[in-house]
Amino acid sequence: MSAGRRVRLLPEETVRRIAAGEVIVRPANAVKELIENSLDAGATDIRVEIKLGGKNLIRVSDNGCGMTREDVRLAVARHATSKIDTAEDLTRITSYGFRGEALASIAAVTRLTVETNTDESGPGTGLEIEGGETKGISEIVRPRGTTITGRMLFYNLPVRRAFMKSDNYEARLVVENVRNYAIAYPGVGFTVVSNEREVMRLGPAGSVKERLKALFEKRVVEGLVETKVDNPLLSLSGFLGDPTRSRSFYEVQAIFMNKRPVRNPTVVRAVYEGYGPVLTGNNPDFVLFIETDPSRLDVNLHPTKQEVRFADERFLFDFVSEAVRQGLGIQRGKETADADFLYQRGFVPEDAAPQEFWQLHNTYILAQVTSGYVIVDQHAAHERILFEEVMKGREDVAPQGLLFPITLELSAEEFEAYERAKDRLAKMGVEVVPYSGRTVAVETVPAGSFMGKDEVRELFADLAKVKPGDVGIGTELAKVVACKGAVKAGQRLTSPEMESIINRLFACKEPYFCPHGRPAIIKITVEDLERRFGRT
Ligand code: ADP
Ligand code: MG
Repeated sequence: MSAGRRVRLLPEETVRRIAAGEVIVRPANAVKELIENSLDAGATDIRVEIKLGGKNLIRVSDNGCGMTREDVRLAVARHATSKIDTAEDLTRITSYGFRGEALASIAAVTRLTVETNTDESGPGTGLEIEGGETKGISEIVRPRGTTITGRMLFYNLPVRRAFMKSDNYEARLVVENVRNYAIAYPGVGFTVVSNEREVMRLGPAGSVKERLKALFEKRVVEGLVETKVDNPLLSLSGFLGDPTRSRSFYEVQAIFMNKRPVRNPTVVRAVYEGYGPVLTGNNPDFVLFIETDPSRLDVNLHPTKQEVRFADERFLFDFVSEAVRQGLGIQRGKETADADFLYQRGFVPEDAAPQEFWQLHNTYILAQVTSGYVIVDQHAAHERILFEEVMKGREDVAPQGLLFPITLELSAEEFEAYERAKDRLAKMGVEVVPYSGRTVAVETVPAGSFMGKDEVRELFADLAKVKPGDVGIGTELAKVVACKGAVKAGQRLTSPEMESIINRLFACKEPYFCPHGRPAIIKITVEDLERRFGRT
């Protein structure tokens, strides 16, 4: 969000790292960029006006934070932005904008005016640009906010101008773009006026569902199932079309990643995979919001920012398809839904007790549950258990004294990390005392963990990689402790050890995933087996 921050020219090094290319090829591109700017400016009311599909006029007005006179002058230059400073910031984008190119690109292909004010008690600024050159700058009277008008798109590029499609088609693309942001921001009011006729008016809505009701026919919205699935890496929420009502044409298929409307073939494929054969050749409606830490989402792939890449596309695919299955599974019949509900909340059904639990390849534990059986990844599961236990703190994680404290000489960075983290570590059951110089002695480890000298050494190496400024540093430390204390793949377990892992896992809040977001449990239902054995 740009409110309160000054517009600056990006340093050359940052500019070089920004995906280059053309931003404006048709009116909808300009409208998209302008709406994003309004949302970044904190606007709660946005009005879009077009004439001849946007070919003759594109105007976006908002009631956001506005710009000062100095900011306006700079804002229309290339690579001028208030949203990022350094190349590093490209790895943690929370605003729509970051390229600092949209206004300059629009100014290069239209006759552009900017009217803006940061505070209506004083004068605002009006700026006119033609052919990229400032023609005039003046004081104006207007309420807080910004209005940007681009006239005669591609007036200076006749071939481009001719390349645009019919007015109706271009107008439709504009409205579709507005619709996407209206779904992502239900609290913001949107109006679209085309050829002086109001074609869309949305007052602020209380929820996405309410917004969908305002946008789509009742029949479409009634056929949507609300869903929400969380995982430490990703969360998915939104609406899935009831497969029994799906038709050959869909009304809406919208994907938002960190509120950004995106095209993401991986997610689309995963959604269809999640529905599986129930669609019988039809196409479902869906509106999905996927949220993740900005550091895991590369939005700097394409100049129009419509394509993004998640750090692990394979995981994204698995997560989304499973989330869709879970979302739709709610309707699958009460028995299964009940069992899943209890199971997810840590209730261990009677027959989940180990019959004989089984360890496969010294890596996976098999366990029977009411609806079938589960395969548990012993390392991921134990990591999840320790993570939740150490996060709860001392009441839940008894430190287990070591008969022989582990002494280690730390590197300078490790020692620094130790000093920063020692109090938190002690609360997590890892008590470490300084010995001499950079040598420390580890006196306790979390009860029930498998931490020997090698693991303790790795623990300090990993601690040194946790940045002091990391948000949720406690969580990051807990992940390291959990990872190092967890049983490894390939380690043979006794029956009581397996039993303990399964029981403690089922008591976890999020038993399905390890703290890094990898699956800890794969469930095979009796129905799956019956299907595979051709019994149904
Ligand atoms: P970016 O959005 O990538 O920063 P733009 O060229 O779209 O680049 O905008 C440049 C700058 O102009 C923004 O960083 C912001 O500070 C300012 N700006 C643009 N539009 C608006 C607006 N509607 N309200 C307030 N500030 C704006
Ligand atoms: Mg922008």
